[in-house]
Amino acid sequence: MRTQIAIIGSGPSGLLLGQLLSNAGIDNVILDRSSKDHILGRVRAGVLEEGTVGLMDRAGVGARMHAEGLPHDGFSLAFDGRDHRIDLTDLTGGKRVMVYGQTELTRDLMERRAADGTPAVYEAANVMPQGFDGATPFITFEKDGATHHLDCDFIAGCDGFHGASRKAVPTGAIRTFERIYPFGWLGILAEVPPVSDELVYANHPRGFALCSMRSKTRSRYYVQCALDEKIEAWSDERFWDELRRRLPAHHAEAMVTGPSFEKSIAPLRSFVAEPMRFGRLFLVGDAAHIVPPTGAKGLNLAASDVHYLYSGLAEYYHDRSNAGIDAYSERALSRVWKAVRFSWWMTTMLHRFPDSGDFDQKIQEAELDYLTHSRAAETVLAENYVGLPY
Ligand SMILES: Cc1cc2nc3c(=O)[nH]c(=O)nc-3n(C[C@H](O)[C@H](O)[C@H](O)COP(=O)(O)OP(=O)(O)OC[C@H]3O[C@@H](n4cnc5c(N)ncnc54)[C@H](O)[C@@H]3O)c2cc1C
Repeated sequence: MRTQIAIIGSGPSGLLLGQLLSNAGIDNVILDRSSKDHILGRVRAGVLEEGTVGLMDRAGVGARMHAEGLPHDGFSLAFDGRDHRIDLTDLTGGKRVMVYGQTELTRDLMERRAADGTPAVYEAANVMPQGFDGATPFITFEKDGATHHLDCDFIAGCDGFHGASRKAVPTGAIRTFERIYPFGWLGILAEVPPVSDELVYANHPRGFALCSMRSKTRSRYYVQCALDEKIEAWSDERFWDELRRRLPAHHAEAMVTGPSFEKSIAPLRSFVAEPMRFGRLFLVGDAAHIVPPTGAKGLNLAASDVHYLYSGLAEYYHDRSNAGIDAYSERALSRVWKAVRFSWWMTTMLHRFPDSGDFDQKIQEAELDYLTHSRAAETVLAENYVGLPY
């Protein structure tokens, strides 16, 4: 088997990269260790920057997103029993975000790939990127009891934090940076209307809470929890009680509750691997970096990596120039670190840290107070939230 670009991973980064390459006439094959149903069952991100929306359009799969997604012009910061609205559109000269679940985005890309007949192998075991330090990279994998060999020009490692691509890089060639936060997020999905038309980010003495949504009838809610918290200890009733206690009274009273159909605990971490290119292997999305979800940046960073890599590969094949692929790592990392900084800052401003003292608490309150009284401070928040330009 031979292709131009072998893509490991059929998450948002692998699928989006594959579609953009296919549209540009560049052959690619996607290999994923999971089944399609498993991938579509993962509940993750839900807020898209305009850049991500633009890439979906460019890939030719934006129609359902525009029909069913919810454009948002702002969100609320809730603290001290009140709401402060951040008017994204006013502060950024007309920009907004789109609420559209990662599951839906993934489904749109998968369906388009299947309709086009572009090759993708699911439930591929022992996927191993090899030979990428030379001119003839290849991938071996197992499927239906047989070992397969896929030759290619380049490998795109879009296989997430636990994937095979980053692990295949020799230890001395890669540098990693990490921060683990001392809490997690307990999240639920419920078929109830969202408490507000816009997202509500709450800082409360009992801990952070986020009221998000997937549609006008489906809510995604989170509360900050201890890392050793057990999901079995959280009945729906306990979750709703805790969420209401962390919100201003007008939200708590308006909240519609109901049975959850998904409940999970996610740890929070910041992680970056440098560089993002090793010979003919590129790391893309979560394979190279992780951010805490507070700033809604994980999926959007995967999309901006795809933009840089797709542009570089198109330049390589169409203009016979290495300039784009040679600049990939530096360009992507420059934007990655700004999003890592923003996500860390939002997390620090909105969560209660178990080891923080009175001084840290006063600084956090001053930060929120400053934000609500300075248009300049609000603008910094807004321009990062809608996404820095590519
Ligand atoms: C629980 C959770 C909640 C999240 N919530 C948010 C949020 O609210 N907001 C936000 O912006 N971001 C959120 N994120 C982050 C966001 O979902 C990711 O940034 C995004 O999925 C990155 O896309 P990706 O394609 O790079 O990686 P992934 O989506 O992880 O896709 C990687 C793919 O590679 C495959 N794979 C892995 N290993 C191998 C292997 N060895 N061989 C072959 N295939 C392999 C996997 O099956 C998977 O399909 C969340 C993440 C998690 C885990």
